[in-house]
Amino acid sequence: MSGAIQAPRGTYDVFGDQARARVAVEQQARQLLEAAGYERIETPAFEATDLFARGVGAATDIVQKEMFSFDDGGGRSMTLRPEGTAPVCRSYVEHGMHKRPQPVKHWYFSSFFRHEAPQAGRYRQFWQIGAEAIGSDDPAVDAESILLLAELLESLGVREVRLRIGSLGAPATRAEYRAKLQDYLRAHEGGLSEEVRSRIELNPLRAFDSSHPGTRTVMEKAPRLLDSLAAEDRAHFDEVLGMLQAAGVTYEIDTTLVRGLDYYTRTVFEFSSDALGAQSGVGGGGRYDGLIEQIGGAPTPGMGWAAGVERIMLAAPPMPVAAPALDLYVAYAKPELRGQAFKLTADARKSGHSAQVELAGRSLKGQLKAAGRAGARYVAIFGDEGTALKDMESGEQRLVDPAAVLHHIGHPL
Ligand code: ATP
Ligand code: MG
Repeated sequence: MSGAIQAPRGTYDVFGDQARARVAVEQQARQLLEAAGYERIETPAFEATDLFARGVGAATDIVQKEMFSFDDGGGRSMTLRPEGTAPVCRSYVEHGMHKRPQPVKHWYFSSFFRHEAPQAGRYRQFWQIGAEAIGSDDPAVDAESILLLAELLESLGVREVRLRIGSLGAPATRAEYRAKLQDYLRAHEGGLSEEVRSRIELNPLRAFDSSHPGTRTVMEKAPRLLDSLAAEDRAHFDEVLGMLQAAGVTYEIDTTLVRGLDYYTRTVFEFSSDALGAQSGVGGGGRYDGLIEQIGGAPTPGMGWAAGVERIMLAAPPMPVAAPALDLYVAYAKPELRGQAFKLTADARKSGHSAQVELAGRSLKGQLKAAGRAGARYVAIFGDEGTALKDMESGEQRLVDPAAVLHHIGHPL
């Protein structure tokens, strides 16, 4: 016999206080986003691998080394979703959502999968709250989207939050800039880390993310994309910043902000928390005006973000979680009375009360203890002398007509 089976590396179980705290986070997100007109969306946990290869970008870390891919049994490659934006865009195209009033706004609370080295704040299955607004390139969409994440993090009490924001401009500007940066990197190859040097061709912008001291020195003087933006992209960016200022959002402009997904154009942003350790990114996003076309739809602008639920919960004070109320616990003295006990429990639930019945064959004394532990307001006891109702607050107990128990425990709110 081998030992007990455990959850896979980089995954975890959610139960008890954790489960309740997570529901509180989800409810807060739902309230805030639905009040802003975002509707819930659920997409499948896996998609055609091609969606991510084309959408997220073949050169990205996610596609190069972080995807859990498998054959669907018919020779087609599938991948557990590593992120939510490409699937939501796929759904927009597949369901002809361009026919609805634009932008179409969706939010999700879903789990995602990345093959990474597990550590604090980094898992192989993790949860994200995400919001996507598709179909308008108005800078107001960018500003509102960022504002909503700022409000969500604030309402959850996430500590020491910083917002960095930048703009990547149009794809043509980025391509031109990319070539310029590659020239610069090649000219300073000696100072770069092995990894950055090996990716000059494939992904030169990631050099800004490197923590290697030599690379950082080189990058201090590297040309900045923000300085090469076309006039209309610069104007778009300035309008976004203006609206954020008007809404009182504090931000820092970051000329080196590069996100790990290829689909971004124009606005990009990231919220981090100094209360977290190395894994300080709480959430981020940006505009992805080329993504829908990339996955086979008509050219359609989009804007969105995703925030990590584990990191939110690490950086926020524990959510106040009220133990669920229990109106009635139904106890019985002997197995012959179980049928009556079950009937009362079912009737209580039907009339809107929370009710539990003894499920472990405890003695009557044990059942009363269990009722106390469960926080029951009343206990109905089916015994040899009839049915008693105990008020757990006053300790008072009296015999009642079993048919009148629900009348005695009052009406639910
Ligand atoms: P990081 O730089 O930490 O790898 P990322 O750029 O890969 O983050 P995104 O793809 O933008 O992250 O995802 C948005 C958010 O999802 C992150 O800010 C983070 O809070 C969370 N996140 C990303 N990967 C993981 C993971 N493996 N485990 C837990 N949370 C994660
Ligand atoms: Mg990552």
